[in-house]
Amino acid sequence: MQLLSPTFAYQFKCVADKCSYSCCRDWSIFFNETELMKFKQYGINDIDTLSRQLEPGKYEMKCNSNGKCPYLEESGLCRMITTCDNDEVLCNTCQTFPRIIKPRKDYIEYTLSNACPAVIDILNNTPSPITFELIDYDDSIKTTGCFSHNLISCRDTMVDLMQISDFPIWMRLYIIYSFATKVKKLDGSNFDSIIMQYNSVDYLIEMYQQLLSFNINIPTKLQLLTDYLAISHDKKSTKSHEVVYAKLYKNVLKYDIDYLSEKFLQYEEVFSKHSSLMENIAVNDLFRNINCENQNDMYYSAILLIIMMSLIKFTSFLKWLDSDNNNCDTLDYNIIVYFARRFEHISFTNLKKQAIEFEKNKLLDPGNIFTLIR
Ligand code: SF4
Repeated sequence: MQLLSPTFAYQFKCVADKCSYSCCRDWSIFFNETELMKFKQYGINDIDTLSRQLEPGKYEMKCNSNGKCPYLEESGLCRMITTCDNDEVLCNTCQTFPRIIKPRKDYIEYTLSNACPAVIDILNNTPSPITFELIDYDDSIKTTGCFSHNLISCRDTMVDLMQISDFPIWMRLYIIYSFATKVKKLDGSNFDSIIMQYNSVDYLIEMYQQLLSFNINIPTKLQLLTDYLAISHDKKSTKSHEVVYAKLYKNVLKYDIDYLSEKFLQYEEVFSKHSSLMENIAVNDLFRNINCENQNDMYYSAILLIIMMSLIKFTSFLKWLDSDNNNCDTLDYNIIVYFARRFEHISFTNLKKQAIEFEKNKLLDPGNIFTLIR
């Protein structure tokens, strides 16, 4: 058995109480009966009060109104660990995050989630393109189940397309969108001809030229981004809402659209400095998140990646606009983490939940996605 992973994935080290956006908030933290027993054996006696049973054998931590796990202390440390001085007490989710392990049919995939600021820091310091390696599988890695991989060759093509540095990021996202749309429409499971088509440089250049000939309507785009932002905000977490969404969103409303449009064009250049990081985020997301089970789900995953990337840029723009003399040109890792937590999905049920919300508001229409990218 072998393990496939991006080479950066072995650099991770949790920064614990120094973390700017702890993983102990903004999630549903689930655990099972065995883990419940383990907590009790380690003397975590208030677990029954601080968690709820969802169904037989499935429990969830009762996060507070700020979306924080009840065991997260003011110091940024976990009370379970400070009580027992042993991280074996933790449930599987907390022990493994942000490491993502996906058993495929005959090998294992391993990477790190974009939903951790320490991972974003690694990605920021990793030169593009990200490299992958296949190494011998370490038997100590615990795995359960098997993630279907019918569409792995399509996913790998998307990873390669996202790393074509000759095209700007938005063009690469457009290519991925176009590729996922074609895969979705294909009747059957032989994707070789589509993959070959997207391996042709001439075909991609032709697509690029066509795209350049379309004018961008910045006010429409900004209005659309505002709609996506409003739907994607985390209604459950008042803390994240306060930090990332509400404050910045108010700023969209206070400026007139012509001023915003002019500034948005100016911001293109500022944001272009982060191309390498944005590429790495997208590649890591494609590798970790793209649904390889069926064509339709793969298409949805690709769209959610595009929305996530657009909102990271838009929110960073709002933050830049809010800064004194527009001099804040660093990319706030917490913005990236916030959207990664909103858009990451391991199961199609989660993916579908997110997609439905956009679909209800007609935000998955091809015309809107096109405006978003262009
Ligand atoms: S988000 Fe990452 S760095 Fe922060 S506490 Fe969690 S694992 Fe550690």
